[in-house]
Amino acid sequence: MQLYNSLTHKKENFKENVPGKVNMYTCGPTVYHFAHIGNLRSYIMEDVLEKHLRYSGYDVKRVMNITDVGHLSSDADTGEDKMLKGAKRENKSVMDIAKFYTDAFFEDCKKLNIKTPDVVEPATNCIDEFITMVQGLLDKGYAYVAGGNVYFDTSKLDEYYVFNKHDSEELMVGVREGVEEDTNKRNKNDFVLWFTKSKFEEQALKWDSPWGVGYPGWHIECSAISLKHLGEYMDIHCGGIDNAFPHHTNEIAQSEAYLGHKWCNYWFHVLHLNTNSGKMSKSKGEFLTVSLLEEKGYNPLAYRFFCLQSHYRKQLVFSYENLDGAATAYDKLLKKIAALNPCDSDELDMAAVEKLQGAFKAALDNDINTSLAVTAVYDVLKEKTNDKTKIYLLNDFDKVLSLDLIEGAKKLDENKGEPAELDDFAKYVEEQIALRVEAKKAKNFAEADRIRDELASKGVTLLDTREGTKWTKE
Ligand code: AMP
Ligand code: ZN
Repeated sequence: MQLYNSLTHKKENFKENVPGKVNMYTCGPTVYHFAHIGNLRSYIMEDVLEKHLRYSGYDVKRVMNITDVGHLSSDADTGEDKMLKGAKRENKSVMDIAKFYTDAFFEDCKKLNIKTPDVVEPATNCIDEFITMVQGLLDKGYAYVAGGNVYFDTSKLDEYYVFNKHDSEELMVGVREGVEEDTNKRNKNDFVLWFTKSKFEEQALKWDSPWGVGYPGWHIECSAISLKHLGEYMDIHCGGIDNAFPHHTNEIAQSEAYLGHKWCNYWFHVLHLNTNSGKMSKSKGEFLTVSLLEEKGYNPLAYRFFCLQSHYRKQLVFSYENLDGAATAYDKLLKKIAALNPCDSDELDMAAVEKLQGAFKAALDNDINTSLAVTAVYDVLKEKTNDKTKIYLLNDFDKVLSLDLIEGAKKLDENKGEPAELDDFAKYVEEQIALRVEAKKAKNFAEADRIRDELASKGVTLLDTREGTKWTKE
């Protein structure tokens, strides 16, 4: 398998540390608000990576943190604490906010068929581990205390900018709002490991430490949590590209300084989901959530399909037109699958299985090329083979793609109903809907309303969504 490594800026042959096992870490959400569909793009693509590794036979252990303390408004050490901002906004306690948005995050993941990592660890569970690591860094001379806080001393490293040395274009600095200079820092890039003195007098969560009552910096949590659950060597670390600097750069600095050896071999960064006005971000206030898409009539899996159609290392522009395109294609795909009619007595066509599985695996082995993997799904439908083989392959590919290919198609079938009379009736309704669309296009709203009323008199309710008109029958 070839994987692009942000550390070397090259596609590399993937080689795990311990044969057959993959240790994988994902930066989890900062739970002060709902995840937006940009965040979820990252988690969808990481989910595909994890599932492809499992599909390829690796025994994967994946760990994710939940950032419920320490992440300030700027990814550097300035600005308001994000959790505190959420608590103030909703007049709730920080822990209530954390619980509410952690649950909401996993509900969104479930709707998008994103598997929950093997270990999910909130930062507030690991204060002892953070303190041990910060103390270790002080003992080794990589950290210093100034103005009550503990800082990492980046001047002690031979190389600090590990990601952007080859191509500064690829460096994306986190959103910086109201950056103020911290005069305690010896070097511009030094970062806080432990806060005691800060401008957040009302910081809700504080813990005792050798340096006074305070709270951890954001970066230390991922280093310490991964060390706790994955040990000293890691295969793959994932995150959105905005995390490369400063977050991941700082994780590498402190982990390698603490451990005294190379820590993580592959860095998998997902490029952003953008809107026409730039990167989608929580801090901008208004953003798109999975629930909002549902309210507008979209199946969340149409969004997953939309994401899979493009490569994770390309920026993806979100617009309803683009999503509509994906939703229509997804719907058509399910309809084609629903039309398959497998026969129990048919034999699996092993030649077709091998050929098509080979193409599917090759697509994902090539740096997780999901759009080619989706093409492999269409190739299954086009293949001259029996439907039993097709269903077998679709089930197999869906272990990685998680698009509910078979389940979704079954649901379509159920909605259509079985009896022949109803099929004729469904045909009639679809025709009337098409006529109504034409009428609306011609601005003949009286005719459009007449069709709606006539259908209503036959017990049919119409629902206009962005994916087209849907209907239900009493
Ligand atoms: P946060 O909850 O802000 O800590 O972010 C959670 C994850 O979403 C991180 O891996 C971020 O890098 C990623 N992320 C943030 N904004 C976007 C975006 N617009 N598109 C894709 N991923 C993003
Ligand atoms: Zn992290």
